Amino acid sequence: MKILFRLSFLASYLASAYAFVTPQHHRFGLTSRQSASTLKMAADDAKVVLVTGSSRGLGKAIALEMGKAKQKVVVNYISEGSKEVAEATCEEIKKMGGDAFAIQADSTSLRQTLHYIDFLVFEISPLALLSPPASFSWYSASKPEAIVKMFEEAVAKFGTVDVLINNAGITRDTLVMRMKPEMWQSVIDVNLSGVFYCTQAFFKIASKKRTGRIVNIASVVGQIGNPGQANYAAAKGGVIGMTYSNAKEFAGRGITVNAVCPGYIESDMTKVLDETYLAKVSELIPLKRLGKPEEVAGMTRFLALDPAAAYITGHTFNVDGGIGIGT
Ligand code: NAP
Repeated sequence: MKILFRLSFLASYLASAYAFVTPQHHRFGLTSRQSASTLKMAADDAKVVLVTGSSRGLGKAIALEMGKAKQKVVVNYISEGSKEVAEATCEEIKKMGGDAFAIQADSTSLRQTLHYIDFLVFEISPLALLSPPASFSWYSASKPEAIVKMFEEAVAKFGTVDVLINNAGITRDTLVMRMKPEMWQSVIDVNLSGVFYCTQAFFKIASKKRTGRIVNIASVVGQIGNPGQANYAAAKGGVIGMTYSNAKEFAGRGITVNAVCPGYIESDMTKVLDETYLAKVSELIPLKRLGKPEEVAGMTRFLALDPAAAYITGHTFNVDGGIGIGT
């Protein structure tokens, strides 16, 4: 009985791995993929890849890497100011033979009234009462509406979502004794809860197809910690744990879940760091330099698209110049 169960599980796993790497029209005898895209630039069997936080930095490099592989990319961003760069990224993807559209959405979507109250109490700014900062909205943690809408829009435009790259992330660094509730909570919300809610929305689509891939952009800090980043380390460590858990939970549905752990990578996130600090950090990195967004994008592309990655799930892959090895 056990053997029969194992054989049926293996058959279902192989079928879904095959389903991911085989174009739909080969599998179902269709002449073209059922896609709602009107742009018609990428091939009909291109994968639809949603990359959260892809207007800048690592996310942008990942979106472009997907474009280079001629996939259909959903470029997500949050700030009004990033609209133009996100749309320019889409144009670049189209020029490379892929297809893309940009969507402004908070990939956290659980900003709570509580945070705003925290802000009022801890920052005590009368102006805050009149005009809440853009980062505060009134969603309840239990209703991640913006994420659901983002996935609905992706399905409306491209017909489905095949791959989710959970990349959006922020830092609010300071020592534990100085960390205000908003600094703790916002990092947990974007970097951890956002990953959970995007995963949930993606799973609803992918589980029905019994195929899909998730790549979570975590961080080496989630593995080895860093002073001044208790919030960030907790969130990224949480993402790594969630990766393991979801890999086990989703395997039966043919969905792989892996994490990439970048070290120090050149982006706006590291640009704010002091030059002397970065020079000291570079000394600690075995390869003696910061990484490039494209280097993270290469590993992400492999896990997200490569047929050879079909049998990889529940693992973390460091792109960190060796800093994660420790001294
Ligand atoms: P970045 O340059 O600061 O870019 C962050 C991106 O995330 C932007 O596109 C931003 O959109 C978006 N974003 C932020 N909050 C969002 C939200 N709530 N909803 C949707 N999008 C949101 O950061 P990065 O360095 O590329 O980092 C990308 C990921 O890699 C993060 O998860 C980060 O923790 C991780 N990572 C980075 C490094 C590094 O050294 N850079 C190292 C390890 C891990 P807007 O443009 O609209 O603001």
